[in-house]
Amino acid sequence: MTAKEQIDAYRRQMGKEPTVRPTARQTMQQMYGVDYQHKCKDCKHLVSHKYARTYHKCGLWLDTPSAATDIKVSQDACAKWEPKP
Ligand code: SF4
Repeated sequence: MTAKEQIDAYRRQMGKEPTVRPTARQTMQQMYGVDYQHKCKDCKHLVSHKYARTYHKCGLWLDTPSAATDIKVSQDACAKWEPKP
């Protein structure tokens, strides 16, 4: 049993909900829900790094040099979507 599973089992015994911790593997859409009306490409939090090619990151999520934190601009937005100014 992992540490999180132990904590969640204890919380259940206490009548509380299991913990929800954001991790690098949880996307913004998984953490906050999907906004099907908009796309990330139109969000003010989109960050584009231009090198030999352009890498897109979410300014509210993880912005590291790793491809694991790249986002697709064509994906459905999350509930934190805000229009570009
Ligand atoms: S819609 Fe959500 S995931 Fe996409 S860029 Fe905006 S804040 Fe980030």
